[in-house]
Amino acid sequence: MAVDTSATSEQTEIQRDITEMVRQFADEQIIPNAERYDHEDSFPEPIVEQMKELGLFGVTIPEEYGGMGLDLTTYAMIVEELSRGWISISGVVNTHFIGSYLLMKFGTDEQKEHFLPKMASGEIRAAFSLSEPEVGSDVQGIKATAKKDEDGNWELNGQKMWVTNGLGAGVVFVLMKSDPKAEPPYRGMTCFITEKEPWAEENSGEFAGLTIPPKIKKMGYKGVESTELVYDGYRCPPDRVLGGEEAGVGQGFVQMMDALEVGRVNVAARGVGIAQRALELALRYSQERKTFGKPIAQHQAIQFKLADMATKVEAARLLTRKAARLKDAGERSDLEAGMAKLLASENGKECVEECFRIHGGYGYSKEYEVERLYRDAPLLLIGEGTSEIQRMVIGKKLLQRHKI
Ligand SMILES: Cc1cc2nc3c(=O)[nH]c(=O)nc-3n(C[C@H](O)[C@H](O)[C@H](O)COP(=O)(O)OP(=O)(O)OC[C@H]3O[C@@H](n4cnc5c(N)ncnc54)[C@H](O)[C@@H]3O)c2cc1C
Repeated sequence: MAVDTSATSEQTEIQRDITEMVRQFADEQIIPNAERYDHEDSFPEPIVEQMKELGLFGVTIPEEYGGMGLDLTTYAMIVEELSRGWISISGVVNTHFIGSYLLMKFGTDEQKEHFLPKMASGEIRAAFSLSEPEVGSDVQGIKATAKKDEDGNWELNGQKMWVTNGLGAGVVFVLMKSDPKAEPPYRGMTCFITEKEPWAEENSGEFAGLTIPPKIKKMGYKGVESTELVYDGYRCPPDRVLGGEEAGVGQGFVQMMDALEVGRVNVAARGVGIAQRALELALRYSQERKTFGKPIAQHQAIQFKLADMATKVEAARLLTRKAARLKDAGERSDLEAGMAKLLASENGKECVEECFRIHGGYGYSKEYEVERLYRDAPLLLIGEGTSEIQRMVIGKKLLQRHKI
């Protein structure tokens, strides 16, 4: 049992109860099993099944659709606890959360009624797909296309890249170029709700034309699959344009950028979770390991590392919760979400590195948990926009807000 240092202050009773429940779940079910799934790079099915029972696939989905109807702040607290256990577990729910956000904010009534109950129970999971082999940061440069056919359906063609939950998902929210001539290009982009058969590499019948190549081999973030998606003549009915054809065609870029804002709070919470775990492991190991006749925690150089780590965890947590609370209050949070994502992902990486150093040679051994954290943490610097892109977002928003 690692040393518990997490702050529970400033939480409502519901938040405290749910955070404690998820923390216990992480301690009992996730942490003891993560090493095995990480080593095998296999999907943690039993853990995911328990998450369904706990209702963790429907945290933010309204109660009328079978979810818990909780806010982004509470969701961020849950994600922090899951990520403290293993960031791959939060990866299983993160794109799902973004998909449900898109439906709740932009979906038609029929789309909400069709998807949200099944998503709240975890019966189907959602993926979110912008990136392509040649495009990540510069989303307006996507090449995959959607063309309206004479029969009224849309034909989707093109290759997508780095799709988290790409194989196991039952539905993919995918951005396509529906008007290649649009200027600026973002005005010609549409988000399609593409259904597929979960875990099928080759889809057939009504989902024919969507193939999922073998999962991408990664440094860390194992267990949850990242895949390409190949759309080749996939036929999407008009009522599966997000928000309906009339309101949704040409709106995909704006819709997905909106979703990325909550996605960034979510990645920030993952940074806090992994940093928190690194701090706990460092606090424990430094009191056990002795050099020069005393525990290394009694050397001032190590205490300074612990002090810096704890400060970074707390700063990232506060900024993440601030961004989430602003969003929940209906206020602008784009700047704060970018700052939270930037700070928490960088702090996560730095805390893991310090934890690794504190472990000395054992940090390099697979016997110690920090070895996995060391491979997992860098993902957070990249996903939902790199640190460079966050700085661009923050700089742009600062200038907009303080225009002279
Ligand atoms: C494990 C994993 C899971 C992912 N899951 C998903 C997913 O589910 N859905 C999805 O759509 N995508 C996903 N991604 C993709 C991810 O969002 C992109 O990798 C990320 O946005 C960066 O894009 P890129 O890799 O193409 O890098 P590039 O855009 O090619 O950037 C390369 C480098 O150049 C820098 N750079 C780019 N433009 C600028 C600029 N203007 N100024 C300064 N520096 C710049 C970047 O910061 C980076 O350092 C995932 C990625 C990984 C690794």
